[in-house]
Amino acid sequence: MGTIPSETIEQIAAANDIVEVIGAYFPLKRAGANFKALCPFHQEKTPSFTVSPSRQTFHCFGCGAGGSVFRFVMDYEHIDFPLAVRKLAARAGITVVEKSRGGGVDDEERQRELRQRLLKLHSETAHWFHENLIKREVGDAARKYLRARGTTVEIAKRWQLGYAPNEWEAFGNWARGRGYEVRDLIMSGLVKMKEDSDSTTSRPSASAPRTPMDREQAAHATPSYDRFRGRIMFPIHNDIGEVIAFSGRLLQDEEGAAKYLNSPETALFRKGSVLFGLDKSKRALIEANCAVVCEGQLDLISLFEAGITNVVAPQGTAFTERQARILKRFVNEVVLCFDADAAGQKAAERSLDALLQNDLIVRVAEMPVGEDPDSLVRREGKENFGRRIASARDFFDYWIERETANVDLASFGSKIQLARRLAETVSRVRDPLMRGEVISKVSARLGVAAPDFQALVSQQRSAERYSSREHPPDTDSASAMAPAPRHDVAMLCILALRDETARDFLRQQNWREILADVPDAELLVRILESDLRPDDSASLNAFMVTLSPADERLVSSWLLQKIPANAGAMVEKWWLGIRQSVLRRQLSIATNQIKLPELSTGDIINLQKQILDLQEQLHELSQPAGAADN
Ligand SMILES: [Zn+2]
Repeated sequence: MGTIPSETIEQIAAANDIVEVIGAYFPLKRAGANFKALCPFHQEKTPSFTVSPSRQTFHCFGCGAGGSVFRFVMDYEHIDFPLAVRKLAARAGITVVEKSRGGGVDDEERQRELRQRLLKLHSETAHWFHENLIKREVGDAARKYLRARGTTVEIAKRWQLGYAPNEWEAFGNWARGRGYEVRDLIMSGLVKMKEDSDSTTSRPSASAPRTPMDREQAAHATPSYDRFRGRIMFPIHNDIGEVIAFSGRLLQDEEGAAKYLNSPETALFRKGSVLFGLDKSKRALIEANCAVVCEGQLDLISLFEAGITNVVAPQGTAFTERQARILKRFVNEVVLCFDADAAGQKAAERSLDALLQNDLIVRVAEMPVGEDPDSLVRREGKENFGRRIASARDFFDYWIERETANVDLASFGSKIQLARRLAETVSRVRDPLMRGEVISKVSARLGVAAPDFQALVSQQRSAERYSSREHPPDTDSASAMAPAPRHDVAMLCILALRDETARDFLRQQNWREILADVPDAELLVRILESDLRPDDSASLNAFMVTLSPADERLVSSWLLQKIPANAGAMVEKWWLGIRQSVLRRQLSIATNQIKLPELSTGDIINLQKQILDLQEQLHELSQPAGAADN
């Protein structure tokens, strides 16, 4: 990957108004010179998330999140810096030309263009599937099925449900007719090559009587066929609402065919990193600080439509580490609503590791046998279902009960075996407080001494530390604001960031030399050595992208502070203070040194000179000379 020149960063920042960019994700309300909203990065009841149109930055006074327009897109969409830059560049129609580090540029550009084409294809395909379901004869049976399940036309429209006809090439023909190339269709995963066909033996009867000869000919004409056939289609969105994949539910159960089929991994879609429904439920998740997790898309839609909107569904059956990490940004607690059958319980248990490692509190709402969230919420309504969620049991209670149900606790051998198994799971709880609580609960239930069980857990934990992890845990530096430097340094930082005159004054001083003796001045040095222009918000954004997230948060808070009108005089006063403190420090070092035994006469003379010199400088500085007396 190449590097993006800072002029380009500045150009992109200038072309993307931060109020418009953030306003496209959620509504902002004007509040004086700024805009406000409920913070998307923490849970709150009154808005402390502030966007400054003049500074072109954002900052949350509740959780400290803040920074440039790039930082917002990175944090909100959970993407890395280069991708955020490209997204904003595309939004403004700017081409990013990267300084090449060896020929990778063309590849990246090609990849970006492919993603763009695939996004367009997915969006149009979702529309086509939807029209099949809503308007066309081919969707009759699917319409009936959904109606029988209580899915109204309005719901189908809101979730853009669709239907993939039960034919081999209906989609492929339509897409080619729209000008899409077969190569892109294959890259999208929506059509498959005939060669890697996995189901030639189970062609649906509608187009059945084909001889091998026919097939041969067909293969030459169109070497591909539709992946999704005879399925109700659920578009899968990324969390900003773009369609990036599909999940198809078989309309008529068919032997040997999976009930649910998802898009394969593509340039747009990484399995295990998308949560179905998140684009719609984000706000509700933050407000409830709790996510209701169900298995299927239809379950999720029914709950959401019934008014339980803090819902997500993992794509597939169990939570991945990546999904759990995404979820942790929105909530602290998860209620698993998996089916009571064995498969549902397996899914719940498999989800556990990823959830615990991300310090999520996990509870389980057991569905009565034969029911799923979809059927249950229809039958008993929002209130009753809500009560089930509220009274969902702690995962460990649920799970201890299940595990001990089939074990004879009177037998020492089986008790020890069970304790080992439980210790392994408990060891995955990362948070020490939560772990302690679980340990005392489990040991009490098993009838073993807590310290003994604790020892088993510790064994597991140290064993695990050696096994490699798929992802290192997020470091705290990403979510914390850097501590502000001491007050005088912070004041100079603010002035150097915000006021042209103050900045010019400081840059004319021998600031490098003096600040080298000031503890805590690294950020001030970076501010002074950068070529940012205080009145140019794009250059402020370009400067912020060079900082660590923690420093960026701090800078974004400074950018929102009021600055006094007489910045020019202020800066001289604060700078004077810094110089005096540096001299006083040097003076105290020298006066300590001169007391040391075994100094040569030369050393003593030098130190005496130095002390006199420092005293003189201090004296000069404290004279009320010229403009610095204010
Ligand atoms: Zn916040």
